[in-house]
Amino acid sequence: MKYARKSDYPRKPSVVWKPKQELQTVNPNQWSKSSKRSTIFHIPPSHYEDISYQCARCGENAVFTAAEQKLTFEGRKAYIWQRRVVCPDCWRERQRIERGIRECTTRWKAHKTELQRDAEFLRRWFELLQTYPNYGGRKNHAGIRMLRRLLDLSA
Ligand SMILES: [Zn+2]
Repeated sequence: MKYARKSDYPRKPSVVWKPKQELQTVNPNQWSKSSKRSTIFHIPPSHYEDISYQCARCGENAVFTAAEQKLTFEGRKAYIWQRRVVCPDCWRERQRIERGIRECTTRWKAHKTELQRDAEFLRRWFELLQTYPNYGGRKNHAGIRMLRRLLDLSA
């Protein structure tokens, strides 16, 4: 299809723009100290834009929205180049795992002697630590090594 004048061309379909969404302006002064050390601090964009990504865990398409970015970088002071790795569902699962690991760690500190022989507890903790990296968490090599050793002993 040909158009006589430039103004006759259909407007570019707006993929990112959603009418109800307000523009999320960038306020670099609200960023964390480490974000301010990044070169982008000196040439900041005027506003945040939605970032599409694929979940590293389940492969679902997800969006790190402009509004979430403003909250993340200016409210929670996360490093400006921090990106989402997993989708919201997998993120919730990751948080469940984190809570589990925290619980185990707290119990361990208080009842180490008894728990050393509690195979059920050790196995649960071990599984949480092993699953965590699948959700973008850092692998706790020392913890896994210790639990593997303890599980062998208590088996
Ligand atoms: Zn996912």
